[in-house]
Amino acid sequence: MTAPESPALPALLVDTLGRRARDLRISLTQACTLRCRYCMPAEGLPLLPREELLSAAEVTRLVDVAVGHLGIEEVRLTGGEPLVRGDLELVVAGIRARHRDLPIALTTNAIGLARRAEALAHAGLTRVNISLDAVDAELFARVTRRDRLADVIAGIDAARAAGLQPVKINAVLQRETLSHAPELLRWCRDRGLPLRFIEAMPLDADRAWSAQTMVTADELLDVLGATMVLTEAGRDDPSAPAALWLVDGGPYRVGIIASMTRSFCGSCDRTRVTAEGRVRPCLFSDDEIDLAAILRTGGSDEALADAWRAVTVRKRAGHADAAQLVAPRRSMGAIGG
Ligand code: SAM
Ligand code: SF4
Repeated sequence: MTAPESPALPALLVDTLGRRARDLRISLTQACTLRCRYCMPAEGLPLLPREELLSAAEVTRLVDVAVGHLGIEEVRLTGGEPLVRGDLELVVAGIRARHRDLPIALTTNAIGLARRAEALAHAGLTRVNISLDAVDAELFARVTRRDRLADVIAGIDAARAAGLQPVKINAVLQRETLSHAPELLRWCRDRGLPLRFIEAMPLDADRAWSAQTMVTADELLDVLGATMVLTEAGRDDPSAPAALWLVDGGPYRVGIIASMTRSFCGSCDRTRVTAEGRVRPCLFSDDEIDLAAILRTGGSDEALADAWRAVTVRKRAGHADAAQLVAPRRSMGAIGG
């Protein structure tokens, strides 16, 4: 761990390019109930010893520092699969008790959400992003290596019934599911669920991603355009990663996040904390600072905030073009997506 020394660190989480982090993503575990091929190895990631994981109280403390000292405006709980944590409701309630108006979002595969959506909403969860790559059970099982589509759909229904708003669907573009994309879109449109397609990044544990074979946003537009009329509809705000398209004249819009072919690193506003409490300013750089070590040796809020600022100042400009990109050591499931 590098000791923060510069007295000239900016008060907020700002890097040398002037980008300010406002969106904090905290991973709660590396474990998962699925094995999506673009993310996890077949055997799953190594289980972290329980004592290494941030506890609910530690997550609350880090959020306090992030919001109170560093200007973070939104927290997203992720993983691995955050629903694997039996104390997820406690994590949410702990944050909510101290931050009444803070948006708290969950990124999840929705397995087990059917039983817990109500309690999570009650604890203070604001919104949910649910990963769903296929609504055909056989295709779903092939890409996630688990036959759990029915559980995911039950989770989606429960999240909506519990009043979580919005419930958004994320689908990662893959060769195997590309021709199924129109069906997934219609399924989401019929239920009024916002859908965003995301280009796969070289963050799979199996290191099978390749610039030559990845499905691009342009390919998706060709496939969707063959059966529906898409009209460009801009972005929710100019720095939002998703480009929006009106479907068949609207009002339904689909989002496409071209993380690889149209990088949005220039307007990145994210900072990430891994499940063991390391801050990581960029998915593609292995530069991290161990906040849990500071926290567990009695470090003050100011010491935590200084360490966080120090690693943020070093945030790199962005990832290289797809063809030159070197995958980082950790995969998406080990960082927190
Ligand atoms: N298990 C939860 C889920 O799937 O929503 C949360 C963790 S998952 C790592 C967070 C997000 O990262 C998901 O939307 C997932 O689709 C996305 N993701 C995982 N691997 C990816 C990759 N190689 N490229 C792009 N997105 C990826
Ligand atoms: Fe699990 Fe989410 Fe990774 Fe799929 S994307 S393997 S659900 S962590």
